[in-house]
Amino acid sequence: MHGTAGAPPEVALRSLDTLWFQVGGTLCNLACTHCFISCSPTNHTHEMMRLEQVRRYLREAVELGVKEFYFTGGEPFLNPDMEAILAATLAVGPASVLTNGLLLDAARCARLAAMAEASPYSLDLRVSLDGYDAASNDAVRGAGTFERVLAGLRNLAAAGLNPVVTVTEVCAEAAVDSGKQRFFALLAGLGLTRPRLKVLPVFKIGAEAKRAGGYESWQRLRDGELQPAALDVPAVPGASAAPGAPAPETAWDHLQCSSCRMVTDQGVWVCPILVNEPEARMGETLADALGPYPLRHAACWTCHVYGVSCRT
Ligand code: SF4
Ligand code: SF4
Repeated sequence: MHGTAGAPPEVALRSLDTLWFQVGGTLCNLACTHCFISCSPTNHTHEMMRLEQVRRYLREAVELGVKEFYFTGGEPFLNPDMEAILAATLAVGPASVLTNGLLLDAARCARLAAMAEASPYSLDLRVSLDGYDAASNDAVRGAGTFERVLAGLRNLAAAGLNPVVTVTEVCAEAAVDSGKQRFFALLAGLGLTRPRLKVLPVFKIGAEAKRAGGYESWQRLRDGELQPAALDVPAVPGASAAPGAPAPETAWDHLQCSSCRMVTDQGVWVCPILVNEPEARMGETLADALGPYPLRHAACWTCHVYGVSCRT
C-alpha cells in the first residue's frame, strides 16, 4: 500500500491471477433496477468483444501467468462469439461466465457441457436470481424473468452442469438461514442436487444509486483512516472468502484489484466494478495495467468493508 495522508490509499497489483472480460459490453436483454453498471438493451458504453480481440488478451494473459478467466457483461450469451471465446479460453485456463440465465436453452447447455467435458480446465456458470419467487425476483429483474431463469437452471441441471446461483442483498431474505434454505429447496427442485448459492452486496452506483440512493460523502477510503483489522463490520454471508480461508497476507489483499484486471472492448480497467469510470481505465494492454491503483471511488468502500469479491 502507498499514498499520502488524506489521499486515497493505493493498492498494488500483488499478482495478476484473474482476468475479467466485459465480453457482453454494457448490452443486456434485461435492465435490472439494481444493475451497478446500468446495462440495458440500449447501453452501448462498452460494445461486445469479438473473438480476435479476446484472443489477443488471452495470449498476453498466459505470458503473465493469469490463472483464471471470468466473462461478464451485460449478458455474455448475447455475444455471437461467446461459445468460440469460451472454447479458446478453455484451451488455456479455467473459465467462469456470469449470466442472467435467459439464453440457456437445452441445446446451448448441451454444447457447454461438451466443452467442459473436453477441457482439462473447469467451466463454471453463474446465474443471477433476486428472489425465490416471481414477485420478489421480477420486481428487480423484470416481469416473467423468474420462470425464464428457472428454465435455464433446469437446462443446466439436465446437461450435468451445476451453476452457482448468485443473489444480491436486495433480497434481504438471502442473508438469513431460513431464506437460504428456501433458495436451496428451490434449486434442488430444479434438479440441482448440490445447490451452490453466493450472496453479494450491492454497489450503490449506476441504476442501483437511482433505485436506493448512492453513497454518503463519508463512505470513502482515505489513506491511514481505515485498517481492515480495526473494522467490526460483519461480511455479507457468502460474499467473501469461504470460512476457514487463509487470512489476507497484507492489508489490502481482500480487494480483488490486488489480483485482477478487467478487459473491455476499449482497453484494460482496474476491476469489474468500475468499468463506467473513465479514470479507472489503466491502458490498452495488460502490461500497461500492472501498476498500483488509488481507491478513490466510493464503491471501493463497499469492497473494503464487506471484503467482497466478484469471483466465485
Ligand atoms: S444486473 Fe445483470 S442481468 Fe441485470 S441488467 Fe445488469 S448485467 Fe443485465
Ligand atoms: S471498486 Fe473494489 S475492486 Fe475496484 S478498485 Fe475499488 S476496491 Fe478495488
